Amino acid sequence: MIQTARKSFILYNTDDEEDLDIGVNSEANSRRINNVEQSFGSSGQPLGLPGRVLVGEGVLTKMCRKRAKPRQFFLFNDVLVYGNIIIHKKKYNKQHILPLEDVKLDNVDDDGNLRNGWKIISPSKSFVVYAATATEKKEWMAHIRKCVNDILALRGIRQSTTVDSPVWVPDSEAKTCMHCRKSEFTVVNRRHHCRHCGIVACNACTSKKWLLPLQSSKPIRVCLTCYQKLSKEATDNNVTRKYSSVMTSGDNRNSSGEDSSDDDDDQFRNGGSEQLAINDAHFQSYD
Ligand SMILES: [Zn+2]
Ligand SMILES: [Zn+2]
Repeated sequence: MIQTARKSFILYNTDDEEDLDIGVNSEANSRRINNVEQSFGSSGQPLGLPGRVLVGEGVLTKMCRKRAKPRQFFLFNDVLVYGNIIIHKKKYNKQHILPLEDVKLDNVDDDGNLRNGWKIISPSKSFVVYAATATEKKEWMAHIRKCVNDILALRGIRQSTTVDSPVWVPDSEAKTCMHCRKSEFTVVNRRHHCRHCGIVACNACTSKKWLLPLQSSKPIRVCLTCYQKLSKEATDNNVTRKYSSVMTSGDNRNSSGEDSSDDDDDQFRNGGSEQLAINDAHFQSYD
């Protein structure tokens, strides 16, 4: 965990509605958004939309498959954007954009070294993040919640009831398959994540695939329990025909890279740069 007292969360606009109005039209806001866009370069989407405000940004430690890794998060008034840090404040990649109207938060209790964490839950991606301090956690959660509530109110919608993507169980927490409880993981018997419930399971227990359109355009690996559940739901909903073409049993010969869809794990094999990024995370105020 990042054991730093240094504050990395930068808040650009206060809670004051008036300030937010100024934020929308201010040159500073446009410049900040432009800077974020530039720092992602061609790997990112255009971020300057009419009415969009950059509310705050900072480094959060994101729980990935193998370990916790620092990621730069940008809270806009309508989306949460994050990416891998190549050079802090200058270069990011692997951009992800989560529309705030889909985002839900859930507290995570402190557990040993893992402190100041919470879940960010959305249909396309769900994960746990940790802030450097309890204060930053409070600030982040409060501001994300406020933005979510504001956007829901503005659009006159209720939060979607679509099925959210699961928070993946970290590999380290599963020594044996969480489905059959028998199979022990080895170099040959690899760990796989069920994309529907997030458990870590063995090859045999995740041999089925299912189309989860919010996560991928192709059928993706699910555990046998979820496969049965999804099959039953599909039958009950009379959509068997529609889904039958994608109820393929997993062909593992063709899926060697299947877990590479976890966006985070292939980054920074060269090492070093992430640590540098944390140390560079100075507190800055722009008021
Ligand atoms: Zn198993
Ligand atoms: Zn499952």
